[in-house]
Amino acid sequence: MADPWQECMDYAVTLARQAGEVVREAIKNEMNVMVKSSPADLVTATDQKIEKMLLSSIKEKYPSHSFIGEESVAAGEKSVLTDSPTWIIDPIDGTTNFVHRFPFVAVSIGFTVNKKMEFGVVYSCLEDKMYTGRKGKGAFCNGQKLQVSKQEDITKSLLVTEFGSSRTPETVRIILSNLERLLCVPIHGIRGVGTAAINMCLVATGVADAYYEMGIHCWDMAGAGIIVTEAGGVLMDVTGEPFDLMSRRIIAANSKTLAERIAREIQVVPFQRDDED
Ligand SMILES: [Mg+2]
Repeated sequence: MADPWQECMDYAVTLARQAGEVVREAIKNEMNVMVKSSPADLVTATDQKIEKMLLSSIKEKYPSHSFIGEESVAAGEKSVLTDSPTWIIDPIDGTTNFVHRFPFVAVSIGFTVNKKMEFGVVYSCLEDKMYTGRKGKGAFCNGQKLQVSKQEDITKSLLVTEFGSSRTPETVRIILSNLERLLCVPIHGIRGVGTAAINMCLVATGVADAYYEMGIHCWDMAGAGIIVTEAGGVLMDVTGEPFDLMSRRIIAANSKTLAERIAREIQVVPFQRDDED
């Protein structure tokens, strides 16, 4: 049987490239920065412009499909995952990087059917790296096949994570104490390039062994999630339970062994689910 979603994936790649052009142009100009949920949760006109551009192109071609987009949700749309073919879009993952011209900015497009990830496209626009993952067909970066690392010993691992955009003292305290626990295991190190999608692609590439974060959203994980699993990695909840795209938290690791080991060190920060009112 022909792959019914391959055409959608090819279209997603084309759109992500076009969006990347817009990012590369816009970053040269002065920006008007606005805040959303916290003083560190930023948005610009470019985030909104790219989301509009992606949504209108996809809606025109696939009018029966569903959508969850970061900026549409910010504008009051619901973010509920259904069984229908659903495009999950982050027009700019790494808006803070974009605002500061820190060179890791991604356009992320995930696609689910029956709530399962079918493909993901993450375009790291300033590096010109196109990451893709298609269920059962592997993960690639600019045409090169991706494979996660083999390091299952946490004491020899390099992790990626972020501090998040919450500035609530209690949340920051737990995030720092998780970092402290992990560093003191000890591990080789902790990195983070400022976007969940690219951090996860670095795990898929095998240059980082695992990524974890809490407080992110489905649009931060939907594109890169399947890139990690198709590169041989695993997704898990930070509690060690099965991964849930709407839960706002994730461990993406090279192996179940490493993911479970990280889960043992992490204290959960409570966040309201993406699909909760
Ligand atoms: Mg974004």
